Amino acid sequence: MTTAREPSSLAITRSRPRVVILGGGFGGIYAARRLRDVDVDVTLLDRGTSHVFQPLLYQCATGLLSEGEISSPLRHLLRGHRNAHVALGEAQSIDPDAKVLTVSRFDGSAFDLPYDYLIVAAGMRQAYHGHDEYIQWAPGMKTLDDALAIRRKLISAFEMAESLPTAQERQPWLTFAVAGGGPTGVEIAGQIRELATHALAHEFRSIDPSEARVLLFHGGDRVLPSFDRKLSASAQRTLDKVGVETHLGVQVTDVRETGIETTSGDETRTKKRYEARTILWTAGVEAVPFAAVLADALGVNQTHGGRIAVEPDLTVPGHPDVWVIGDLMSLKDLPGVAEVAMQSGKHVGGCIARMVPGGAPDRKPFKYRNFGSAAYIARRHALLQAGPIRLSGFVGWVSWGVIHIAFLAGYRNRFGALLNWAATLATGSRRERAITYGDPESARQPYSDLSPES
Ligand SMILES: Cc1cc2nc3c(=O)[nH]c(=O)nc-3n(C[C@H](O)[C@H](O)[C@H](O)COP(=O)(O)OP(=O)(O)OC[C@H]3O[C@@H](n4cnc5c(N)ncnc54)[C@H](O)[C@@H]3O)c2cc1C
Repeated sequence: MTTAREPSSLAITRSRPRVVILGGGFGGIYAARRLRDVDVDVTLLDRGTSHVFQPLLYQCATGLLSEGEISSPLRHLLRGHRNAHVALGEAQSIDPDAKVLTVSRFDGSAFDLPYDYLIVAAGMRQAYHGHDEYIQWAPGMKTLDDALAIRRKLISAFEMAESLPTAQERQPWLTFAVAGGGPTGVEIAGQIRELATHALAHEFRSIDPSEARVLLFHGGDRVLPSFDRKLSASAQRTLDKVGVETHLGVQVTDVRETGIETTSGDETRTKKRYEARTILWTAGVEAVPFAAVLADALGVNQTHGGRIAVEPDLTVPGHPDVWVIGDLMSLKDLPGVAEVAMQSGKHVGGCIARMVPGGAPDRKPFKYRNFGSAAYIARRHALLQAGPIRLSGFVGWVSWGVIHIAFLAGYRNRFGALLNWAATLATGSRRERAITYGDPESARQPYSDLSPES
């Protein structure tokens, strides 16, 4: 990490209060929107160029939607906000006395970003519970990089199997293990079976893709524990029907290149090994690294998963000019869902709007309105749980579609996603199956070195 700091065009001292929003996810975008016509200078900082619609990452990973359809450039989203700047870079450190963030650029250089008010909406990342060695074999599902890495793994596993001579050699390549039976694990498991049984069904000559085994491992006694028991039972029936093999009451206790080991949660602690060349990890989240830096600099403790505990008005205790919102905040066990992030972003934007110019600090407590949650299980089957409403099957699926289209950023993305869904429903095909090799740097040399000396 670099410490060399240079002046930046973004660090100009301005006459209006400067609001820095760290993170362009749901929380950050909704805060920026609320501040649109407020007499402040807003800088939205993110380490990526786009707002990513995480709830559809698994559809990008399984070739249904493109990365462009589930993301929107931050600059484009804020193009009409005359008071907003977008900065690309990763926040590395913070000096709360000087009110300055230090941000690293792509090339390793760094610049300072001063603020009067700071909104931290940096989100969470996948947690491997002390087993970072799993990451290389079992990508998580939190970023576009994850989705594209998973797509590469899935597509190349079928291609590998097609070229291998014996059924015994093919089997591990046609076995897909998913750790975690929450919404993300269930969604990706169902989608892999759909990819295998619909999109790829007639495209291979040596293998039958529909023979692909999808193993879903979950430590609890039912999948989707955050949903009502009846809904989770309905989801389980659909998973069984589409051919996902669910293993409940087991923890994944080892991950290797060639497979996984599970341990049962009962007193027998029975261990089992499964050979699988594609392993996906959706079992838990933890705070992004900047959370620890922030907590240390502000002198506060991190709570469960590294989240930052906030006051009822979402400020950090003892720091009325710093708010933490969205997934990263810890307040009354609010869940890490998009609605919490959006509403908390709007809330803080409103507080700042009422504070400027020269108003008293606005300590209005945040009130969350729970509009419910939804999960996709398989084609024509999704769950929706909102207050007393419990929907599953086809009606749940239509409701799920309407909600996701409504919250997807931008009309082009909505239209594109609808068109792709309709085409996939009608024909079973999935067009977004291109894969790239390695990282963007190594893409300059995408071929193997075939020189005689190598
Ligand atoms: C696969 C998946 C499926 C989901 N499905 C649903 C669903 O169906 N319904 C639902 O309500 N919720 C769902 N969620 C949860 C929802 O997406 C999150 O609650 C929401 O994205 C949180 O928003 P946020 O703004 O707090 O953080 P995020 O959206 O995670 O945004 C954080 C941003 O901060 C940036 N960042 C982090 N650290 C730094 C740094 N140091 N410097 C600069 N930038 C930084 C990141 O690049 C990122 O853009 C799902 C999540 C996942 C991963």
